[in-house]
Amino acid sequence: MRIGNLDGRLVILTDAGAIDVERASGGQFGADPQGAYDRWAEFTAWAATAQGRAEPYDIDDLGAPSPAPRQSFGIGLNYAEHADESGFGVPDYPSVFTKFPSCITGPYTTVDLPPGGHTDWEVELVAVIGTEAWHADADAGWSYVAGLCVGQDLSERITQMASSPPQFSMGKSFPGFGPTGPWLVTPDEFDDPDDLELGCAINGEEVQKSRTSHLIISVPQLVARLSAVARLLPGDVIFTGTPAGVGQGRNPQRWLAPGDELVSYIEGIGELRQHFTLPA
Ligand code: ZN
Repeated sequence: MRIGNLDGRLVILTDAGAIDVERASGGQFGADPQGAYDRWAEFTAWAATAQGRAEPYDIDDLGAPSPAPRQSFGIGLNYAEHADESGFGVPDYPSVFTKFPSCITGPYTTVDLPPGGHTDWEVELVAVIGTEAWHADADAGWSYVAGLCVGQDLSERITQMASSPPQFSMGKSFPGFGPTGPWLVTPDEFDDPDDLELGCAINGEEVQKSRTSHLIISVPQLVARLSAVARLLPGDVIFTGTPAGVGQGRNPQRWLAPGDELVSYIEGIGELRQHFTLPA
């Protein structure tokens, strides 16, 4: 099942178009995309048999599948080759930061580059929580996940590394730095949700390409590790880490520039498209 946020309204997306959940359910479920996660089991049971008129829609009207999560986790250095290119090595314990929820946007956006900054790209699988998790067992980790979307963990490296020791969250939380989407795909839609190709390209030039099977700490293991400390709440998002190929790890280093177009994709989900500008 594909669940979307169309102009701020919760929709089910089918090949025929978008079904408005509030109208199709006669008000049983509200229009707010965020509200669906609080009743996820009930909502998906209804949605599986929902009868409603599917209307054509404009993909530019899609917003973030979870537009206002209470918690937004980022995982650093979760692919071995990326850990190497970053000069940190593979950590024993996952590096966890937050992308403050105000940075989260939908899939097709224009992003202001922070003046004087070094803004980098990081394509990532994003998992959205559907059932509260507390001390979850990794074997059952997927059962807490509502679905998956594509994410970009845009990162301004000067701010990210400015403090000692580095504290990543601020450099990753500028406005527009957390594009997600284009919709949420439920885990049952994938032959193997632990093995999806992901990548991104700048102006058509491929810069990252890997598979989520190369994650050091998989999605279900992340649910267990994170929920051992913090209660994971419905609608929370987890940016699961980026593979190799970021600008910081290149020689010479490369940063996003005004006019660049960044397209990010994950097999079986879809793609994001970001344009970059430098504010006057
Ligand atoms: Zn990242």
